[in-house]
Amino acid sequence: MPKKPKVRFGSAGIPHQCKGGSLAAIECSRNLGLGAMELEFVRGVKLKEENAKKLKTASEKFNIRLSAHAPYWVNCCTKDKTKQETTKRNLFAAAEACSWAGARVAVFHPGYYQGKTSKECFNLLKARFEELKEKMDKNKITGVKLGAETVGKKSQYGSLNECIELHQKIPEIMLVIDFAHVHARGDWRFKAEEDYAKFFNHIENKLPGYLKDFHAHFSCIEYSEKGEKSHLPLEGKNEPPYKSLMKVLAEQGYSGVIISESPMLEFDALKMQKEYLKHL
Ligand SMILES: [Zn+2]
Repeated sequence: MPKKPKVRFGSAGIPHQCKGGSLAAIECSRNLGLGAMELEFVRGVKLKEENAKKLKTASEKFNIRLSAHAPYWVNCCTKDKTKQETTKRNLFAAAEACSWAGARVAVFHPGYYQGKTSKECFNLLKARFEELKEKMDKNKITGVKLGAETVGKKSQYGSLNECIELHQKIPEIMLVIDFAHVHARGDWRFKAEEDYAKFFNHIENKLPGYLKDFHAHFSCIEYSEKGEKSHLPLEGKNEPPYKSLMKVLAEQGYSGVIISESPMLEFDALKMQKEYLKHL
């Protein structure tokens, strides 16, 4: 008898085949056979409380696990006071909307080096998070994590090991693995099953228990020596390979969510799911 699936698949934003807004997309995702969806706040958090609560009800009814992507103009490593305020305001708004919508994580891009060392970036981020935590506590926002996404460009703060460190040292942060970015940045190169197996061993050693409920993004990617160039669909010889990842996830029994950030969104989420189910 096949094992029970432990990984949910979903699209980054509203699936191409779904009409209407995020609310309709929850039921539509269920009808397509998906189990998750990421709300896109990348150009600003515009979700109102009453609408967010409707998303929560629908996600429970249709068994779709929600997450969100915080705005792109977050930079936790900036020394510019105005940009620090913008960062805090956007992270707070994303976390608040997630708490209304019952989304467990608001994914964000940690920041940019802009001449600073990794350590300096860490300290700047830590200071922002102390202020953010104070604001979240005051507003009684609990049960939401900010997701430090492994980023794709070498100019960005947020390598695999930097994001692992953020997860270890800042309680409000959880690691979000973007496989394409990790691959493009050269933090880890995925060619075959064993590369994924070693990668998960590394994660498990650094963050025990994380693979019981991980959050990840997947797509294929074009890259140069500077890192990411553009996201690609899951087809042909595009890297990194998804089939070997699905095999390892199924065989090892890891649990979590994979959001498709491919230009083919839900089509590729379903492609991954089909491959994953084959190995259960
Ligand atoms: Zn992202």
